[in-house]
Amino acid sequence: MTTKNNITIVGAGLVGSLLAIFLAKKGARVSVYERRSDMRQATLNAGKSINLALSERGWSALRAVGLEKSISRIVIPMHGRHIHMADGTEAFQPYGRDGQCIYSVSRAQLNIELMNLAEEMQEVSLHFDQKCVDVDLENTVVTMENAQTHTQEQIQSDLVIGSDGAFSAVRRTMQHLDRFNYSQHYIEHAYKELSIPPTAEGLWKMDKHALHIWPRNNFMMIALPNLDGSFTCTLFFDYSGEYSFEQLKDEASVHTFFKKEFPDMLQLIPNLMEQFFANPTASLVTTKCYPWRYKTNVLLIGDAAHAIIPFFGQGMNAGFEDCTVLDRLLNEHKGNWEQVLPAFEQERKPNADAIADLAYENFIEMRFKVSEPKFLLRKKIEKMISEMYPDQYVPKYSMVSFTTIPYAEAMEAGKKQDAFFERIMTLENIEENWNSTEVVTLIDIWLKEANFFRG
Ligand code: FAD
Repeated sequence: MTTKNNITIVGAGLVGSLLAIFLAKKGARVSVYERRSDMRQATLNAGKSINLALSERGWSALRAVGLEKSISRIVIPMHGRHIHMADGTEAFQPYGRDGQCIYSVSRAQLNIELMNLAEEMQEVSLHFDQKCVDVDLENTVVTMENAQTHTQEQIQSDLVIGSDGAFSAVRRTMQHLDRFNYSQHYIEHAYKELSIPPTAEGLWKMDKHALHIWPRNNFMMIALPNLDGSFTCTLFFDYSGEYSFEQLKDEASVHTFFKKEFPDMLQLIPNLMEQFFANPTASLVTTKCYPWRYKTNVLLIGDAAHAIIPFFGQGMNAGFEDCTVLDRLLNEHKGNWEQVLPAFEQERKPNADAIADLAYENFIEMRFKVSEPKFLLRKKIEKMISEMYPDQYVPKYSMVSFTTIPYAEAMEAGKKQDAFFERIMTLENIEENWNSTEVVTLIDIWLKEANFFRG
């Protein structure tokens, strides 16, 4: 048991549903209020992206609540990036060492599994069509409005946790507080999802064990596989301006754009036009705030505390890691929320900021660098080094995706790795000699000097 045993969670998205399970396992009574209807009865589209990349931080949280086995039945491993260059050539870049991969999972299916498990626990109750419209921070009272009847109800509890996403209503009430910091930043790019249907035999039209990328310098398309043989593509493109979504107003301009930039899509997506005009063009935002709590009454978690742009595939993973960290702190502080809440925000805030920055960096890497010969060479050398020193040299991408090393540490190590590679890449004839004895010996000496071995 903990010092707060009657907990209200606002938002039954990915993080709120998982958190309910963690807290119920600690013996708390958890009431979860969700604005939308129960997606298990309604349409399977949970909004936002259709599929997500799940990696080690997410798995580690799912493992902790016993969901690893059931979720592993609904994922597709992606072992690397399959790059579709502008000139029509293709290349494959493994993500890590053999066997290391990230996983494509349907957002809706994952959310459903989490809600099902939460509901199986007698400590948890889920309430749908309930929109949080206000929070009395001082008295821990949440006002909920029923989406059908528009009647309001006030719910009092020991602790309110806002897991109600990037545009959190719980956070909005905290924004009026003195010394509450908040920022939001929309990037120039927006996104649109498109679907590549399966073949007539129900199979995938491309390699299903890869995350496909069509890098085009300032913009890009990506595609992740689904279990039904389809791929969900996301086009990231300027929202407005000379070459942007804004210019793609009619079928002729869309056709010209795809013919020039992504000609393969004209074959892969037979009803491209229909999809392009039916699917929304959505914005991408980073939000930061601090503190993440009001006294020991209210806490923000997941996207409500730290929404990031999706280019490292870490938003949900970071939110799941929030739950693991909260659970660990509850163990360490023997269920004393008065100690846990400040410890939680102090530990997580620098890591949330780090992954927000890493996500920006990775956008440049994905849309631009992956098509550069120098970058491909660096990846080859990096793979060689991490195979030679598997326990000591962990590339930044691997630290973020395949470990639970804190994001802030991964970012710092990544900076050192970049400086180290700048040195290697200026070696004479490195393109030809990258795996020669001379270069390997030099790398060994420089690595020891750089002193960023782990373990
Ligand atoms: P949300 O998923 O936004 O859930 C919030 C819930 O709260 C929702 O159910 C909402 O209906 C409910 N709610 C909102 N307001 C209220 C209210 N007033 N009252 C009651 N309920 C309310 N992350 C990854 O890890 N990997 C990826 O590959 C990845 N890809 C992405 C691609 C795109 C295009 C986008 C936009 C995001 C991606 N993310 C990815 C990020 C990921 O979607 C989020 O980080 C994750 O959904 C956050 O979960 P959450 O539960 O905190 O918030």
